[in-house]
Amino acid sequence: MKYYSTNGKAPMADLEKAVVKGLAEDRGLYMPEKIYQMPKAFFDHLQDMTFQDIAYNVASNFFGEDVDEDALQDLVYDTLSFDCPIVEVEDNIYALELFHGPTLAFKDVGARFMARLLRYFLNRGNRVDGSGRQQQVNVLVATSGDTGSAVANGFLGVEGIHVYVLYPKGKVSPIQECQFTTLGQNITAIEVDGVFDDCQALVKSAFMDAELNGHMRLTSANSINVARFLPQAFYYFNAVARLWALKGRSQDVVMCVPSGNFGNICAALFGHQMGLPIHRFIAANNANDVFYQYLQTGQYTPRPSVQTLANAMDVGDPSNFARILNLYSQNGALSADDTHHAITQLISGATYSDEQIADTMRRCYQETGYVLDPHGACGYQALKDGLQPGEVGIFCATAHPAKFKEKVDQILGTDIDIPERLQAFMRGEKQSVEFSKDFQDFKQFLMEQ
Ligand SMILES: *Cc1c(COP(=O)(O)O)cnc(C)c1O
Repeated sequence: MKYYSTNGKAPMADLEKAVVKGLAEDRGLYMPEKIYQMPKAFFDHLQDMTFQDIAYNVASNFFGEDVDEDALQDLVYDTLSFDCPIVEVEDNIYALELFHGPTLAFKDVGARFMARLLRYFLNRGNRVDGSGRQQQVNVLVATSGDTGSAVANGFLGVEGIHVYVLYPKGKVSPIQECQFTTLGQNITAIEVDGVFDDCQALVKSAFMDAELNGHMRLTSANSINVARFLPQAFYYFNAVARLWALKGRSQDVVMCVPSGNFGNICAALFGHQMGLPIHRFIAANNANDVFYQYLQTGQYTPRPSVQTLANAMDVGDPSNFARILNLYSQNGALSADDTHHAITQLISGATYSDEQIADTMRRCYQETGYVLDPHGACGYQALKDGLQPGEVGIFCATAHPAKFKEKVDQILGTDIDIPERLQAFMRGEKQSVEFSKDFQDFKQFLMEQ
């Protein structure tokens, strides 16, 4: 499979290059040149298959030309060693719980998959050049919380890869901080005296610095990377399978995805292009609603993000918007108006203030007993507001509520349990390296590694 750039000015890449480089030379995002339909026989048996089997079939469709069959199977089965159930919250509304992975965040799947795929390419390169030497790959990731923990844990102990997690000092929750500062091994936590944007700027400067790139191989593990976002399509095939098993096949399914950088919903849309029978999609936003505004007006106007209760969705210029546009403009063949029309035929939006999010969490808890986290709450409410008679809605519960325990307890008046897996992180010892937001200090440090 070849991958092209959404900006159209970079050469095509193979999967290895797309994964190792992350971003194309023209700063565009890589897109697979073809999207193959899943065969009819796959859908005939979908509801009888396990999450792992479904994922392996979907992964073969994306990556089968570029990764050996056995290796791909190992990679998928190892990545998905946890459950992804749907839970009935009320009549016709289901939560797709994406938070049963190692860090209780849906990003675990993409992070683990990408780590193992990088490892596979490093091993293969090593076999081919036969030198026995391996050049380490260094992953830089800026985080406001959740991405850092998923990436650090996904890459933990993976030979040949070192991860630098940059995070803003004092601005991530204590639980989140433990999840990437207590690991040691091949994970280095970089505590930046600044805000998230400063961390992001340091990472961008590092990618652009010729001297540094001559010294070490750098890549990004944000959802711009095809190996990070595409595996999230597995979730949506599994969701439909589990719904069919519960309610039969003749369902008008509405899939509602709480969205920030739009990687997760973009993976769902790829699934749809592969024939997954989802009737329509809803992208749920918090107050950072540039995508919602695009749906209403046809104008895309990025703006600085504002801080909300659902902080993993505080994004003012979603990076995967470029992929969605590219997909529905048929790689630029359609006009902006026709593209907008195609997108609004399939996807609608919703946007909620912090006050509305808190109200939703309280109401859902009182009426159904289900504990929503602030991100999932946006998805649930968008279904409450937008589901039509005859439709069945599934929203992604993107994080375990315990990851946002302080907020959830405060809003619901509860004292929710922290799962053992999270408590284990909190017993570890914090290790981090402190930096100012000045690039020269960070560069100096990397040059000495
Ligand atoms: C990352 C994240 C999101 C947003 O996902 P995107 O792929 O960036 O749209 C939503 N909820 C949680 C809990 C997240 O960690």
